Amino acid sequence: MPQQPIRGKRMRGVCGFFAFSDEGEGELMQPLFSGDKRTETLRVMADEIFDLLVIGGGITGAGIALDAQSRGLRTALVEMQDFAAGASSRSTKLVHGGLRYLKQLEVKMVAEVGKERAIVYENGPHVTTPEWMLLPFYKGGTFGKWSTSLGLRAYDFLAGVKRSERRKILSAEATLGKEPLLKRDGLNGGGYYVEYRTDDARLTIEVMKKAVEYGARAVNYAKVEELVYDGGRLAGVVVVDRLAKESYTIRALKIVNAAGPWVDALREKDRSKQGKTLHLTKGVHLVFDQKRFPLKQAIYFDTPDKRMVFAIPREGKAYVGTTDTNYRGDIAHPRMTLADRTYLLRAVNDMFPDLKLTEADVESSWTGLRPLIHQEGKDPSEISRKDEIFISASGLISMAGGKLTGYRKMAETVVNLVADMLVAEGHAPIAPSSTKHMPLSGGDVGGSAQLAPFVKTKTSIGRQRGIPQQEAEALVRRYGSNIDSVYGLVEKCLSAAGKYGIPVHVMASLVYSVEQEMTVKPVDFFIRRTGALFFNIAWVRQWKGPVTAYLADRYGWSQDQCVRFAAELESELQFALEPVEGE
Ligand SMILES: Cc1cc2nc3c(=O)[nH]c(=O)nc-3n(C[C@H](O)[C@H](O)[C@H](O)COP(=O)(O)OP(=O)(O)OC[C@H]3O[C@@H](n4cnc5c(N)ncnc54)[C@H](O)[C@@H]3O)c2cc1C
Repeated sequence: MPQQPIRGKRMRGVCGFFAFSDEGEGELMQPLFSGDKRTETLRVMADEIFDLLVIGGGITGAGIALDAQSRGLRTALVEMQDFAAGASSRSTKLVHGGLRYLKQLEVKMVAEVGKERAIVYENGPHVTTPEWMLLPFYKGGTFGKWSTSLGLRAYDFLAGVKRSERRKILSAEATLGKEPLLKRDGLNGGGYYVEYRTDDARLTIEVMKKAVEYGARAVNYAKVEELVYDGGRLAGVVVVDRLAKESYTIRALKIVNAAGPWVDALREKDRSKQGKTLHLTKGVHLVFDQKRFPLKQAIYFDTPDKRMVFAIPREGKAYVGTTDTNYRGDIAHPRMTLADRTYLLRAVNDMFPDLKLTEADVESSWTGLRPLIHQEGKDPSEISRKDEIFISASGLISMAGGKLTGYRKMAETVVNLVADMLVAEGHAPIAPSSTKHMPLSGGDVGGSAQLAPFVKTKTSIGRQRGIPQQEAEALVRRYGSNIDSVYGLVEKCLSAAGKYGIPVHVMASLVYSVEQEMTVKPVDFFIRRTGALFFNIAWVRQWKGPVTAYLADRYGWSQDQCVRFAAELESELQFALEPVEGE
C-alpha cells in the first residue's frame, strides 16, 4: 500500500496551497514531490542508507523506483536534469510492440513488449490512448499484402491482442477511405491494427509520482558526480544539486545505473566499461499543424530509402518521425540538422504528394537519442532494441537498451535481481512485483473502460468552476484521477492568476506541477509537464513570460538565474524550429 500522506503543520504557500512541515500533528499533507522540497529531500537522502539507489529519472529509472519501493525496498532516485529530460520525452510516443522487429525475427522481444501495451494502457488510461494504425502496402514496398497479413496475425498472437483490436486487411479503396491523402500510385491495400499513443514524459512523471506516493525519495537536477566505494564495493554516490550547487553523499546497499544514453559514462566512472557498450542513434520528429497537414489517421509508411516512419495525428497537429542515424555529439543536446529535416520532409511529401510541405510548415520538432547496445556491422535501424543488464565487479548494476513500452517488465527484472542479491546478503524475504495491476498516479479512473464517462463528468465539474469546455477536458485527460487536486487549486489561485496575468486554469496547472510534480524551471513545465513546446508552441510563446515570472518569485531566483532559465527556454524554442548545420 502507498504510505500514508504525511501529517504535519500547515504552511501556506503561494496561492494558498499547502506546503509541508514535519512539525507536530496537524492537517493531512500531500506526498513529498514538490519543487519547494528538493533541498529537504536531498538532506533526508543523505541521512539514510537506502536499500536501492537509482541513477536516472527517465522511464527506466522511474519504473525501477516504483517496482522497488512498492515491494518494500527503501528507494532513492536522483536525476541530473529534469525527470524524462533524456530519451523519455523524445520518443515517437508510442506504446507499441514494434511490428517491424518481426522482420528482424525479434519474436521474443515483440511478444514481451507487445503484451505490455495492454498493461500500460490499463494502468494509465489517461496517458495512453488506443490508436488504430494504417500500414499501406505498395508495389515493391517493405510489407506486401501477404507479409503484412502474416506479420499482423503473428503480432496479434504474440502480443495477445484482444478480439476487438485484431488486425484487418483493407482493399486499396478502403485504405484511401481511411486516409485520402495517401499516395495512390501502386497502392495495393493496407493493414489496420491497434497501437497505443502516449505522452512519454507524462507517463514517466506519473510512474515517478506513484513511486513517491509509496515512499520513494526522488530529486531532479541532482547529478551523480562520483561513486563511493567501501573496500572496493560500491556503497554510495556523491550527488551535486545543480541548482543550489551543494553536494551530498547518498548511501545504498545496491545501486542501479539507469542513465539511458549516459549508462557508459557511469560505467567509465566505475572503471567497468568493457564488453558490450552503448550505441547511440539519433531520432528526429517534425510537427505540423492539421490545417496544413490534415491527417485523419495514424500511418506507418515506407520512406524512399526503405525505412519506415510514422505520421500521427494529435491535438490538432500531425507529427512525423523518426530518423535513425549514428550519433557522436553532445548527449545532453542532440539537435535536428538540416539533413534530418530535409529527409523527413522528403519522406512525408513522397507518401502524401498533394501536401507539398516545406520547411516553413514545420511548427516544432524534437530530437532524441536511443541508448541501444552496439552490434558490430549493423545499421542504426537494424540494431536490436532488446534490454540488457550488466553487473560490474564493484556491484554497479547497469540497465541498457530496451523501449519505453517495456519499462514495467524491465523494472521487474532488475528489481528481482536486486532482491535476490539482498536476500542472499541477509535481507528478509522481499515481496514479488505488484505493478502489473497497479494504476499509475492519475490512473485511478476505474479502468480504461471507464475513462470516457470519467472525462465527461469531470469536464462538466471543470465547467462549473468556470473553465472553458475544451480546456477543462484537456486538463482531465492530462491529470486523470488527480484532476480534483488541480481543480482544488483553481479558487486558491485566483489572485495569483490576476497578479501574473494568466488564466486561472493555467495557473492551477502550473502550481500543481510545482507542488506535486517537482517543476523547477520554465522548460520543465512547457516541455515535460505539458508537452506544449512540441504540440502547442504558440501557447508557450503566449505564457512564457508570466510562467517564468511566477517561478522566479516562488523560488526567489537571483537575477542571473532569471536570465539563465529564460534563455534556456528561448534556446529550446529556437532549436525546435531551426536546424543546425550537419549530417
Ligand atoms: C527517437 C526515438 C523514438 C523512440 N520511440 C519509441 C516509441 O515510440 N516507443 C517506445 O517504446 N520506445 C521508443 N523509444 C525508446 C525510448 O524512448 C527509450 O528506450 C527510453 O525512453 C529510455 O529511457 P531511459 O530511462 O533508459 O533513458 P532516459 O530517458 O534518457 O533517462 C536516463 C536519465 O538518466 C539521467 N542521468 C544520466 N547521467 C546521470 C547522472 N550522472 N546523475 C543523475 N542522472 C543521470 C539523464 O539525465 C536521463 O534523464 C524511442 C527513442 C527515441 C530516441
